[in-house]
Amino acid sequence: MKAGVLALQGDYAAHAKALEVAGAEAFEVRCLSDLSGLDALVLPGGESTVMGLLLQRFGMMEPLRERILSGLPVFGTCAGLILLAKEIEGKDQARLGLLDLRVRRNAYGRQIDSFRTLLSTCVPGAEEIEGVFIRAPCVTAAGRGVEVLASHGGFPVLVRQGWIFAATFHPELVPDAPIHRWFLSSIEAGR
Ligand code: GLN
Repeated sequence: MKAGVLALQGDYAAHAKALEVAGAEAFEVRCLSDLSGLDALVLPGGESTVMGLLLQRFGMMEPLRERILSGLPVFGTCAGLILLAKEIEGKDQARLGLLDLRVRRNAYGRQIDSFRTLLSTCVPGAEEIEGVFIRAPCVTAAGRGVEVLASHGGFPVLVRQGWIFAATFHPELVPDAPIHRWFLSSIEAGR
């Protein structure tokens, strides 16, 4: 499977490694033409405002939205989840707006308040995983079509809406990439 990682900003290199560990061929995506031939795309963590502006500046926002709407499976983590969310509390920043979530950015505080915690998930093979939360957002509301696969403190941290997957934590930073394996195998299963 050919999996792209949006490589405009953020921790795309760690995702590319995780995708390879999970058995995919990973490609960095920096312009529209890099999207062709991909079976899946990861939107990494980083700074969602910067990624949103760069997507607009490089003319990628609308075409990417179209690609996702026409069935390109996508996995947004942390800033990537924010880019996918329909609603961002108190902000009107550039985003794809496809995932029926309301999110609060930097909900746990500043960079120094970042933390690791054990998460229980409904993902086969990843029932207990370490969640790495880095200046993470919090999902404060999820629409009815959103499946919640893990929560922390009563708030969803791993979700799925059809072929749109998202996490508020950083699954690329744990060994053996169990969440990336799930993403890839879910795509295989849906083909
Ligand atoms: N705080 C960042 C934002 O709002 C997200 C942090 C991350 O991706 N680790 O975009």
